[in-house]
Amino acid sequence: MIAAASFAGKRVSLFGLGGSGIATAHALIAGGAEILAWDDNPDSVAKAAAAGIATGDLRGADWSRFAAFVLSPGVPLTHPKPHWTVELARGAGVEVIGDIELFCRERIQRAPAAPFVAITGTNGKSTTTALTAHILKSAGRDTQMGGNIGRAIMTLDPPEAERHYVVECSSYQIDLAPSINPTAGILLNLTPDHLDRHGTMAHYASIKERLVAGSDTAIIGVDDSWCAQIADRLERAGRQVIRISKRLPLTDGYFADGTNLMEAVHGRYSRIAFLEGIGSLRGQHNAQNALAAVAACLRVGLELGEIQAGLESFPGLAHRMEQVGRKDHVLFVNDSKATNADAAAPALSSFNRIYWIAGGLPKEGGIEPLRGFFPRIAKAYLIGEAAPAFAATLGEAVPYEISGTLAAAVEHAAHDAAGDTGGEAVVLLSPACASFDQFKNFEVRGEAFRQAATAIDGVKPIGGPR
Ligand code: ADP
Repeated sequence: MIAAASFAGKRVSLFGLGGSGIATAHALIAGGAEILAWDDNPDSVAKAAAAGIATGDLRGADWSRFAAFVLSPGVPLTHPKPHWTVELARGAGVEVIGDIELFCRERIQRAPAAPFVAITGTNGKSTTTALTAHILKSAGRDTQMGGNIGRAIMTLDPPEAERHYVVECSSYQIDLAPSINPTAGILLNLTPDHLDRHGTMAHYASIKERLVAGSDTAIIGVDDSWCAQIADRLERAGRQVIRISKRLPLTDGYFADGTNLMEAVHGRYSRIAFLEGIGSLRGQHNAQNALAAVAACLRVGLELGEIQAGLESFPGLAHRMEQVGRKDHVLFVNDSKATNADAAAPALSSFNRIYWIAGGLPKEGGIEPLRGFFPRIAKAYLIGEAAPAFAATLGEAVPYEISGTLAAAVEHAAHDAAGDTGGEAVVLLSPACASFDQFKNFEVRGEAFRQAATAIDGVKPIGGPR
């Protein structure tokens, strides 16, 4: 655990007592702060109290006595409207921060040279974070990974000069980290997302920009216009910017040419790494993630050989285009994390003969945005509440059946794919729907797919994450 010493001897209020809130409270207490914590959920308050954390309703607190207010990133700071605690903090002139800010202050105090890679973007954050940490770890570096993935940041080991931090940051976390200052900050991409919590796209983009604006080196995916503008703006302001592109040759920066990762220096190109044959990094979207990870690893001093070895041994993340099994020419891919059409698009664009299992609790817009991929789909197997609507969209364009359950869909898709003579056939769960009509969450849905697929006679499991 990292003791948050920046508030030693001071009073700090804290709201949000989920897992990361409790970890943050312990970090503040260990650092010598006196805290008062609260949550709207009485069970969470009781749990915190039982763990030795001082709790009390912050409505009745004397806010003038707090040096800071630590807010959990799940609680609205600005939109749709500030949480009542934020109004109280602002009214009393108390700064509002989150756990990543506490980490940044500790790092600057204790080990400002500790390499710190921070990652954000609309899509690909977790993959890029896990990949960067994996490459560093495989190269023998002391590596700590956390933030919006895995462990809460204050539960990591304390900053030391040679310790590397790889931290995934959601926009909510960046919004609560005014002094975020990574060695290498990665902004992968920007598309509209969570606008209910950020108001406008411009506001959402401005929060993401803060992570790279505060970085010693800003690594920015310039394939969308929001990010391209941010890169230009930072460069004009004299910041060090490394551009990456998953499709365009750049004059300077890193770009993907098919599965080759290229470096461009004043228009001269050289290959620095490759993704050919790496099952966990298939698809153009993963080229973007890999380019960002490679750029960050180079920035913190890794050699190209170490980086290539790390790329090749990356197991991938569960439920994100995860290869779970194979039988002859049939590959089984679990992309259960794809809970809307946008998230399903990368998988559908990565394979050619797809036996597509889709459906669940429908999201607005359905699968209409995926029409461009329909020619890649040999047949669709529809499950859950969305089945009739998806069937209507597929119409005459794609053969389909309404399988109803995931188990039936896997069985039928595997049978049909086995009879496909056109090369690699992929049984793909990429549902473009939430899971809650039939499963507790997308992880449980993905596990059910894995079990059904690997239970089929002759299917060899592919060792991966988990
Ligand atoms: P995040 O942590 O940002 O949600 P993940 O790495 O968990 O992203 O990936 C979630 C899904 O987003 C993946 O299954 C894939 O469909 C899609 N995805 C991953 N990387 C990218 C990317 N660079 N660009 C667009 N989509 C991506």
